[in-house]
Amino acid sequence: MLLLDLALLLPSLEAAIRIINLRYLRYHGNEIPSGFEGVIDATTLGRMSAYAGDTGRLGLASHLVAQALIILAIFGGALERYDQWIAHVSHSLIIQGVCFFLGVSWCFVLISLPFGMVSSFVIEQRFGFNHTTKGLFWADFAKGLLLSTVFVLVLTSCGLCLVKWSPQFWWVLVWLFFLVFEVTVTLVAPRLIEPLFMKTTPLEREELEADICALAKSTGVKVDRVFQVDASRRSGHTNAYFTGLGPVKRVILFDTLLEKLDRAEILAVLAHELGHWKLRHISKSFVMFQALALGAIYGAYRFINWEGLPSLIGAAHCSFPMRVSIAMFTGSLVSVCLSPCLKALSRRHEWQADNFARGLVEPSALASGLIKLAVDNLANLHPHPLYSAYYASHPTVVARVARLRSHDGTVGI
Ligand SMILES: [Zn+2]
Repeated sequence: MLLLDLALLLPSLEAAIRIINLRYLRYHGNEIPSGFEGVIDATTLGRMSAYAGDTGRLGLASHLVAQALIILAIFGGALERYDQWIAHVSHSLIIQGVCFFLGVSWCFVLISLPFGMVSSFVIEQRFGFNHTTKGLFWADFAKGLLLSTVFVLVLTSCGLCLVKWSPQFWWVLVWLFFLVFEVTVTLVAPRLIEPLFMKTTPLEREELEADICALAKSTGVKVDRVFQVDASRRSGHTNAYFTGLGPVKRVILFDTLLEKLDRAEILAVLAHELGHWKLRHISKSFVMFQALALGAIYGAYRFINWEGLPSLIGAAHCSFPMRVSIAMFTGSLVSVCLSPCLKALSRRHEWQADNFARGLVEPSALASGLIKLAVDNLANLHPHPLYSAYYASHPTVVARVARLRSHDGTVGI
């Protein structure tokens, strides 16, 4: 049972990395990193390390529970029995597929629900981040569930129509359909989906808006409008980003960020975000992910048609939807090996965006902005190097600040 061995081994390796990271935090969590002396005190560092410990333990528990349930469902026969039950509901491939994947997606929602509640109402609450009420939490949950149900309905029914229509070339058609769907969602999300969760209003600080537009203009980016979102209704975490395809951008600032950072720091954070646009990180990542997706769907097409597939999970027979789900599960195991490469590329992009920002604003403003964001979001200042290499999409804030403060901060990448 090669697949079962991999299913036990790879998630266990991930869990081991999380445990190593938690142990590292226990031994080093009270050490003030070099360059942070006088910036954060022992009490603040204690809070940051305690938060990293709590979220790390919850992440480990959720990872272990989810993986154990998935392995039990696939290799314990539950998925096969569910598949046989669905086969009695209808003989139509599309109805079978929609029922199958709706059930699976609702199971995932159910598994993650208690962890989401502990995260919001225990951990985030304890550290003063949670501003969400029980009513708002359930309203968000219902909207999220409805949205994911619509997505599963659309993607599964259209995907299976393509499979029926072209049994030989569905892999390229499904890839194209997903591509169009993703671009459409990216285009409509700021106007249709985000307002379901956050209220966006034009920035009330005219001077700051003029500064942001001037900064963007100096790099050739035209800013349509600057908005603030009422993120503080739900959480105390801070953030800022650019949205919009094409040359005209909208800038979104969390109201929490406007409260905590001064003008120079906000501009420095946005200079970093501008770096991502100017260096085409978003389009490069998009092209790379689409190429990977095409490879993955072609691999899945070959795997799904392989007659030995049911024996991998000890089943006698698998329907097409079940074969797809086994292919997705195998893909998730492959991605365990691929993930560190993608994270390394993302960190490289972060270094490049920091370098870009250095040319636009005072590096010290970005450094102090990053420190404030780290303190405010209670970032882990002591991640284990192995954990950072595997999981972190950003370089550690300690390394970024050190490089911004050094005289020769440019990175040879
Ligand atoms: Zn960035």
